[in-house]
Amino acid sequence: RSGGNGFAFFEAHMQDGVRDQLELARDLRAALEAGGAGLALHYQPKVAGDTARVLGVEALLRWQHPRRGPVSPGAFIPVAERFGLIIALGDWVIDEACRQIADWRGQGLKLRVAINLSVQQLRQPEALLQRLQQALARHQLTAAQLSCEITESVAMADAAATERVLQRLGALGVSLSIDDFGTGYSSLAYLRRLPVSQLKIDRSFIQDLETSADARAIVKAVIELAHALSLEVVAEGVETEGQAAVLRAKRCDKLQGFLFARPMPAQELAQWALRSQQ
Ligand code: C2E
Ligand code: CA
Ligand code: CA
Ligand code: CA
Repeated sequence: RSGGNGFAFFEAHMQDGVRDQLELARDLRAALEAGGAGLALHYQPKVAGDTARVLGVEALLRWQHPRRGPVSPGAFIPVAERFGLIIALGDWVIDEACRQIADWRGQGLKLRVAINLSVQQLRQPEALLQRLQQALARHQLTAAQLSCEITESVAMADAAATERVLQRLGALGVSLSIDDFGTGYSSLAYLRRLPVSQLKIDRSFIQDLETSADARAIVKAVIELAHALSLEVVAEGVETEGQAAVLRAKRCDKLQGFLFARPMPAQELAQWALRSQQ
């Protein structure tokens, strides 16, 4: 009931939040300095809409914190962005994904890997392109084996600059996807100019497919739009057979979600992929 105490409590609470972020940032920096200790990529399959064959995987970053245990990317990626660590973290992801593609190739498994790019990586195009080229060369990969996912809101944020970067990534041969599609407000005219080959429909629309006529209408329209522009469509966050059935009926090219597989460590993914290809 005392205003003074209430204020003090609130302030301490806020400081906890900041301290927490500082601690995460310090530990993440240490992890990166140690070559990525505690960091890992997990891989989630994108399967064909019609055959359920695995056509590629998305790399999703995982961090096993030394004391806290697993911390989700939703928690540590914003910290990395805020504390100037996202470029180093993104570089680690590029190197690790390329190393993994080469490793799988050695096991007779050909999989295209999609990595997620942060807006800050796109704002430093020279460094990004150089890192990608170096990593591809080091592992003797062609750029076609790698793709990059960029969220729709990032792609729209600074349209002219983004267009230039994406053109250069495209020229390198890396294929590009617009992630979380439907949550931003991209104009058709703009979308046409970008060298993207894939749209990923945001999970929020997929979630509502069975219960909302609006969600079904939006998904149908996005798929038709994408196909009219010769783009491939992926539905993310597919969790039920009912959702998959609607998406297949609407000719969605690829499906991704817990219904098929959760993101998993590289070795497990390889076993899963080999099984699914039999
Ligand atoms: P995103 O790129 O949209 O990734 C999809 C997220 O949905 C992943 O969460 C994935 O585990 C989750 N997911 C997949 N299928 C399902 C499903 O059927 N149901 C539900 N409920 N969720 C599903 P995750 O791994 O926690 O990643 C969250 C976000 O963190 C990603 O969203 C991406 O924006 C970011 N992120 C992850 N890895 C990286 C990275 O290496 N670099 C950057 N810049 N961002 C990353
Ligand atoms: Ca993604
Ligand atoms: Ca997404
Ligand atoms: Ca998302």
